[in-house]
Amino acid sequence: MLKYIPKLPKKNYNFSKNGTLPRLGKYLLILGCIFGGLHLFFAGASILIPKHLSQEQEQKLFGDVSIEEDFGTINPKQTDFVRKIVRNLERQHQSTFKNDVYAVCNDDINAFATIGGKIIVYSGAIRKLSENGLTFVIGHEFSHIQHRDPLQQLIKSTPFIMFDVFFDGFSSVAFNDFLDLKYNKDIELRSDREGAQAVLSKYGHAGGIDEFFHIIDEGKVIDTLQILTDHPMVANRIKQMELLTKGVKKEETNEIDFEIANECYTEIGSNK
Ligand SMILES: [Zn+2]
Repeated sequence: MLKYIPKLPKKNYNFSKNGTLPRLGKYLLILGCIFGGLHLFFAGASILIPKHLSQEQEQKLFGDVSIEEDFGTINPKQTDFVRKIVRNLERQHQSTFKNDVYAVCNDDINAFATIGGKIIVYSGAIRKLSENGLTFVIGHEFSHIQHRDPLQQLIKSTPFIMFDVFFDGFSSVAFNDFLDLKYNKDIELRSDREGAQAVLSKYGHAGGIDEFFHIIDEGKVIDTLQILTDHPMVANRIKQMELLTKGVKKEETNEIDFEIANECYTEIGSNK
């Protein structure tokens, strides 16, 4: 039987202490230490800054963006409608802070919270969901703002943004999302719970609470990468919702007035 005996060099004759490889290693180590230090520094800052910067100050600092340029055409009737839902939530939470709320033309069934206390709701969500389902989605985004999640996430990702600017062409922000996978999943589940609470307080029953998940689960509206980075798997979210509403009655949902629900749809004539 043949036996393979690997022949190793007696010494690392190509490996000099001052060669390119050790130098590269040294630079990478220094770069890693700087980056690690920055990461820790900004992670700490993301906890401290929101405690010392009020929501109003945050809004002043980051509020100056053009909604139409950044997010899409504003729908006045839908904006009034979603604003009422948010004002109601502010009263419930006894918050004096006024969130900046807009409904914009976009057929996706989605909504999001941005830095500076902005809640953007896509017309697709208003068209496809019941009032109860929409209250859940808005309650979820409201929760992100209440907990200052967009500000925290911006601060935390600063070293990654700096890295991408410095090394033009890199995109390490996605790597940051990956590092924060567990954290992101936890805050999503927390915001789901608070969104559910918004529905229960307003309607007194659980009807429409899980509508959003069933639609995205069926239609696969959110792409896989987004689910991996920002959102815990839809099945987990539905499961949490089932546990939360166990024993709570589910009544009929309230439909949104046709004219409001279809404001953008008829205007742009999409998907006719
Ligand atoms: Zn969320």
